[in-house]
Amino acid sequence: MRLSRHGESAAGGADEQGRRIAARHARAGMAALVAVLAMVAVPSSARSAPSAAVAPAQRRWAPNDPGRPLPPTLEPRGAVLGLAPPPDATVLFDGHGLGAWEVASNAGGWTEQDGVMIPGGFRFNKLLSKARFGSMQLHLEFREPSPAAGSGQHRGNSGVFLMGVYEIQLLDSVDNPTYADGTLGAIYGQTPPRVIAARAPGEWQSLDVIFDAPRFAGARVQSPPYATVILNGIVIHDHQEIYGDTSSRPTPLGFATRLEEGPIGLQDHGTATDRVAFRNIWVRPIGATLDVR
Ligand code: MG
Repeated sequence: MRLSRHGESAAGGADEQGRRIAARHARAGMAALVAVLAMVAVPSSARSAPSAAVAPAQRRWAPNDPGRPLPPTLEPRGAVLGLAPPPDATVLFDGHGLGAWEVASNAGGWTEQDGVMIPGGFRFNKLLSKARFGSMQLHLEFREPSPAAGSGQHRGNSGVFLMGVYEIQLLDSVDNPTYADGTLGAIYGQTPPRVIAARAPGEWQSLDVIFDAPRFAGARVQSPPYATVILNGIVIHDHQEIYGDTSSRPTPLGFATRLEEGPIGLQDHGTATDRVAFRNIWVRPIGATLDVR
């Protein structure tokens, strides 16, 4: 089509026809838009009532439900390794000594070997940071045992406990199916990761967490905790609500612990097949950051 210097069609008849078609489409589009707006504007009570309240996803499944679908696998092409702590970070482990830590129950157990931390094989013997944190940015690196041994929850099981009570599950989840809310990166017993982004046993992997601490007002939960979790550079939780303390037993969701800060905990799951190594662990508290927005 030839255009005049004003950019209009030189074919007047066709131009007029085009305008009519455009107007007709515009009227039809407006009618459709009005219909949609009318539908949205109708009070929900006046529309067909849902048969039942839609339960949040986390309520549809019992904790550790073997029937819950597994997230898809997304093989990472790398990991965030060797990330130096920013100047305002609290360094919990830089390869030199366990001075920033204490054990929860059994004496000893965790050791430093060649610049990495290894659990000693005492069941559920958490290593706890002496420092307490609320809202924070956490970085750490971990390595699953190689060659892989055991299966399900007994292959490289560890975990990172935010505030000492909310577990981000660590597990060798390469070709190792288990219940969905117990796979690598799950908020244990509550929310599976969006994808299983596991690296091979023996390879270092990275875990980065942005955590919003809970707020309590007496018996009331003023604001639940939330976690954004990035595993091996891949987002696996996006501002995911945490529904209560995580537990090794399928218990009802709820907050037994009503603190607003706590330690970082690392899980010793208790067997030789669960000896997950850790390195480069640091935390930036973010609750007190000056808000300049
Ligand atoms: Mg665990």
